[in-house]
Amino acid sequence: MDFKDKVVLVTGAARGIGRTIAEKFAACGAKVVVCDVDQQAVETAAKEIGHETLGVRADVTSSEDIATLFKEAMAKLGRVDVVVNNAGVTRDSLMLRMDEKDWDMVLDINLKGAFLVTKAASRIMMKQRSGRLINISSIVGTGGNAGQANYSASKAGLIGLTKSAAKELASRGITVNAVAPGFIQTEMTEKMPAQAQEEFLKRVLINRAGTPDDVASAVMYLASDEASYVTGQVLTVDGGLTV
Ligand code: NAD
Repeated sequence: MDFKDKVVLVTGAARGIGRTIAEKFAACGAKVVVCDVDQQAVETAAKEIGHETLGVRADVTSSEDIATLFKEAMAKLGRVDVVVNNAGVTRDSLMLRMDEKDWDMVLDINLKGAFLVTKAASRIMMKQRSGRLINISSIVGTGGNAGQANYSASKAGLIGLTKSAAKELASRGITVNAVAPGFIQTEMTEKMPAQAQEEFLKRVLINRAGTPDDVASAVMYLASDEASYVTGQVLTVDGGLTV
């Protein structure tokens, strides 16, 4: 796919799925803005990706950081064509034992973070009269998961945000879609108990765990010209796990 001279901003892009998304866009000619919460990790990722990648430290829960992030992107690159809300965390435990602070933290990063980024991005995209917003949800956002009440609620919330933003922004030339990955091999899933990992893998029709590349390909499709008539949708990338 050709993203020559498009500006693509990815949150949580220092590692995992976000990092692969950033790398794939850069390899297709895009100017990429890598955002993550750790300064050192951002600098390393931007250097390793190369291709004029701009690294900006930003915590997605801070509206000040998000304002600075978009200000810097606009000052250095002049426009923002694609934004991928990928930053996300888990703090798993059964609901009865779940700390209130773990509920708040997961909802703040995964859902409020995406709202703040969407709000800032859509201001710029409305002026451009074009843009692509892509939110990384999860299959547990529709199916739920024992031990992940906070995470599932945040990912379900992202689907609501996606559909509402699609309705608000379509007339301005902006599409908003979500990708719902299944079980993808990253540091996030490595933390899961071995038994829970096996349970997920047993249900995958295509007999393997997903890779960050599988998710990045779906994101690139939604960001491409080929998806110009697709908005408000959730594209599941789970190897058939939820079929
Ligand atoms: P990961 O833990 O490897 O990477 C997440 C990234 O987000 C990290 O670089 C982290 O530093 C960054 N981040 C965390 N808090 C942040 C904040 N406040 N501000 C900015 N950045 C922050 O996880 P991953 O597996 O690559 O997951 C990426 C996205 O995909 C997440 O939204 C996750 O919920 C979603 N997802 C993952 C899977 C999976 O199986 N791995 C499945 C479904 C959905």
